[in-house]
Amino acid sequence: MKEQLLLLIELQECDSQLVMFDSKKKYLPHKLARLDEKFHTFKEETEQNKIKYDELKTRHSESENKIKKINEGMVKTKERLLEVKNNKEYQAMLKEIETAEASRGDVETDIIKILDELDKLFVFVKKDQVTLDEYRKQYQEEKKLMETELNSIDTDYTNWEQKRNDLIKKVPADLLSRYEKIRNRNNGVGVISVWKAVCNGCHMNIPPQLYNELQKSAELLACPNCNRIMYFQNMEKPV
Ligand SMILES: [Zn+2]
Repeated sequence: MKEQLLLLIELQECDSQLVMFDSKKKYLPHKLARLDEKFHTFKEETEQNKIKYDELKTRHSESENKIKKINEGMVKTKERLLEVKNNKEYQAMLKEIETAEASRGDVETDIIKILDELDKLFVFVKKDQVTLDEYRKQYQEEKKLMETELNSIDTDYTNWEQKRNDLIKKVPADLLSRYEKIRNRNNGVGVISVWKAVCNGCHMNIPPQLYNELQKSAELLACPNCNRIMYFQNMEKPV
């Protein structure tokens, strides 16, 4: 292929890479933030059963404490019972013990319900934990990949920039300015491949005679539709 065209193709590769790195630099941080947000929402949702479980655990130990207090109170009442002087006082104390026993019964019933619910919840909490662990692993892998990519962008960008600076020294000034003009008018693409008589930039057909010429001529030819500098590339053969 013509030397000037080869230079332009290389230059185009540099420019396309630079545009790509520029856009990655802008969108990757957003993508990373969205990934974090998605994980935290998922985590919060999956931890709902665990929150209920912990609340019940607290209620369980509160109930156990209540029983302990009731029992202690009853021991004291029973001690006082031994020192009682009259029947009225004796009856009042028996009533006190009866009330304490009744409320202990209520708390015990409550504890049985709590334990039952804790058993059921435990199954869900375990399941949720497995789900969350799997999701976390996947999230961390994705995050690491994105961060590595983000961290290498500056180095990659500088490398392609350096390559571009070296290249433009070899391209004649008038050709370079023609390329820049076309590129600026055509979404950053000034040089484009053509295969099977179709321009890969604008996807329009190249007239047969021009297509013929493109495959033989040493001239730099432009696509009649998008005006980009064309080169013939057989897409079925590896470059
Ligand atoms: Zn075109």
